[in-house]
Amino acid sequence: MSDARTVITDTLALEGRHCLTSSFQAECVVLTHMLIAQRPDLPVLFLDTLHHFAQTLEYRDRMAEAWGLTLVNLRAAEPQVGLWQSDSTTACCARHKVGPLFSALESYDVWYTALRRDQSPSRATIQEVEPFRLPSGRIIQRVSPLASWTARDVWAYAKAHDIPLLPLYELGYSSIGCEPCTTLPLDPANPRSGRWQGEKLECGIHVQAAAD
Ligand code: SF4
Repeated sequence: MSDARTVITDTLALEGRHCLTSSFQAECVVLTHMLIAQRPDLPVLFLDTLHHFAQTLEYRDRMAEAWGLTLVNLRAAEPQVGLWQSDSTTACCARHKVGPLFSALESYDVWYTALRRDQSPSRATIQEVEPFRLPSGRIIQRVSPLASWTARDVWAYAKAHDIPLLPLYELGYSSIGCEPCTTLPLDPANPRSGRWQGEKLECGIHVQAAAD
């Protein structure tokens, strides 16, 4: 487990505008706790896909109020409920997640995520700090201070700091996204295997090629 606080301190010193993306899963909330200790007004970007569990939205609002977060809800320019069913999950994620986030990131230079290498084979090689090329070609820094943390590390931090977690974990979910695309894990060894019925592991945001 690397020293996430050192990564945070070093990268908050970088020039430019900083933001954090959060789905309000456990690692996101732990990272938020660490970041706002040093930068209380850091914008917290949440992708409001219109397909979230009601429990996620209630928890987001509860935590935002309790911690005084600078919450920024991002929505598609033309949202379409049920697009995952009427077209495809690829089209739905592109419209409700990938597009709105990459558009918003054009306003920032340093982007914090709670990605961890052990979450999924698709995340096995992420670095704490790495350049990330937006579709426009602009390069920003993607910072993942918890990259080397395990799920156990995350839960231990939450417990040590009395951080309440999304109640859906109590039902057995190990990775929580939009309600239609989230089930209990299909493969106990892969926490993200309950996403998209195992058809894919990523919505498209974090498979964007890193900058050269
Ligand atoms: S996770 Fe599912 S519901 Fe959410 S944006 Fe992607 S396809 Fe749509």
